[in-house]
Order: sequence, then structure tokens, then C-alpha cells
Amino acid sequence: MKKRIYILYTGGTIGMKRSPKGYVPMTGLADLISQKIPIHLSANMPEYVLEELDELIDSTNATPADWQLIGNRIKENYQDYDGFIVLHGTDTLAYTSASLSFMLQGLQKPVIVTGSQIPLSELRNDAQDNLITALILASHYALPEVCLYFNGRLLRGNRATKIKSSGFDAFDSPNHPWLGKVGIHIEVESSSVLPPAKNNENFQLPDYGRHRIAPLRLFPGIDSAFLEHMLKLPIDGLILQSYGVGNAPDRDPKFLKTLESAIKNGTAVVNLSQCTYGRVEPMSYATGSALARTGVANGYDMTLEAALTKMHHLFALELKSDVIARKMETSLCGELSC
Ligand code: ASP
Repeated sequence: MKKRIYILYTGGTIGMKRSPKGYVPMTGLADLISQKIPIHLSANMPEYVLEELDELIDSTNATPADWQLIGNRIKENYQDYDGFIVLHGTDTLAYTSASLSFMLQGLQKPVIVTGSQIPLSELRNDAQDNLITALILASHYALPEVCLYFNGRLLRGNRATKIKSSGFDAFDSPNHPWLGKVGIHIEVESSSVLPPAKNNENFQLPDYGRHRIAPLRLFPGIDSAFLEHMLKLPIDGLILQSYGVGNAPDRDPKFLKTLESAIKNGTAVVNLSQCTYGRVEPMSYATGSALARTGVANGYDMTLEAALTKMHHLFALELKSDVIARKMETSLCGELSC
């Protein structure tokens, strides 16, 4: 029997059309696909249903509430389909794929998030391959996790990041091996894929969007006044993008003191490296160990996308900030290695 795949179009270039202002999302992607790609003629391809969100967006406009909406749509349709594809804009696609991994824990079926750099409406595009390959992956491969497929690369959804603004090879997962490589052959690296959950799915879809989580990328010259001002917003969770292996300036003791009192007062703070590759190793330098002593959590090798969406998830679960800090140091679904 043919597998059944649920496709959700959320907006993004893949289904966009030209307008006088530039590309804009358009309804009618299902019709465009049937005009341009005769999927039903291939015995190898699954059956699919394509739904569009009521409001199609450029993913630049995505908010945590949009992640929740997508998560809920997959949850509602979970029993009726064998696999799921989310068609999304590339700008914040890695945030959505990371966020879905925290909401849809213990998946037994593939969820593949993809998009394209050139819309399907154009003659020359990368949309067709990304969509067709995502359909094959979602229907024929054991991928019990949220994945990101793009231009021949199958990546873990919470390890991926957008690395190129306009290349077809727009995504990579710098700190985790690809889950698969697609060229003439489809090669899925099963040893890198999460094992299927032992128990039933453990979907967690709490109410998103009530908390303020923000990254702060350290820069030469940052001072305690800047940090104090930012924390006054107020901020529930802070992702400190420190230098190298997790170092922060300790010349001005007030800077670290400000951080320490914010943590004591209930702000969850996690330390990530600004570097694309590598991890936080806080004991390598005095500047790193001084930062660690403030009580910041170690984010190891997480991407910013994973850290930000994970914090949103943990705050939405109404956990206390010290519990959140400890969970930020632990892998929930393969987002970090410590
Ligand atoms: N601005 C677009 C979006 O993220 C870019 C894309 O889809 O490639 O929706």
C-alpha cells in the first residue's frame, strides 16, 4: 500500500511568486505542484495531502506562536499519516525545525522540514528536488525525528543552521554529522539518526510566546551598563554568545556581577560559543571559568536556533529558571553533545 504523507505549506520562497515589491507567499501551491510535477505518475511516490496555513508568511515574520501552530497541525494529523513535510521559508527554517524537535519528542514517524532558494513558480528552481526528495525520505526511510532536508543534505532539525544567504547549499549542521547524503543514491546514515522512542510519543505542546528569550552576542567594548539595560526589559532567558571556548570579559567585575545577580533573580542564562564549529569548554581560560562561576549554564555545542527554541519550550512548560538552566545542559532530543 502507498504511504500517505501530510504536507503543510507555511509560506516561504518555495511557494512564492513575483510581485512589484519582490517575492511574496501565494496560496495555490498544491495546484502548482500538480501542474509542474506529475508525482502521481510514479509508482515509487507516496500519496500526499497538502494543506496551507490560513496566513502564509515570509518566515522572517515567524514567531514562537507560529512554531506552536505548526506543531499542533502535525499532532492533530499524526495518526492519519506515515510521514510529515513542513514547507517553510529558509530564513528562520532552522528555528522552526529545532522548535518542532522539542515539541514532538519521541516521534515514531519522519517529520521533514524543507523549503527552497528559488520558488517552484520559476522554471529553474531548487524547489522541485527538495520537495520530491523530502517525499521519498518521509515515505521510505526510518527517520523517527525532526529532520531538515535541503540540497542533498539530510540534517538533524535541531543541529542545523542557515549558512548561506543565497547558495543552494544553504544549510549545514556544523557540530553533528549529516543524517544522510542525497546524490545519485540516497544514503541515510542510520547510526547518526535517533533511535525510535522506546515508549509512546511524548509530544509537549505548551502555550508559546509568553516569555522573552534573547541572544546577546558579546563584542569588544560591551559594558555592564549595556547588559543591565538589556536585562531590564525584562528578559526571562538570555543566550550569551561568548568568545571561543566560552570566554567573557572579566576586566570590569561589574559585568559578571550583573550577570550573577540576574541569574540569582530568576533569569536563565546559557553560554554558547560565537564560533560556528566547536563547543564551550569553560575551564580552558580564566575568562571562561570566571563566567562559569556566575552560574551560567553550559550550552556545549548547541546552535543558537536550538538554544533559543529550547528555552522557549522549557519556559512554556512553566519550569523554574534553575531547572531550565540544568536542562539546557542536557540533551533532550539530540541537540547537544557534552
Ligand atoms: N524570506 C524567505 C523566507 O524565509 C526566504 C526563503 O524562503 O528562502 O520566507
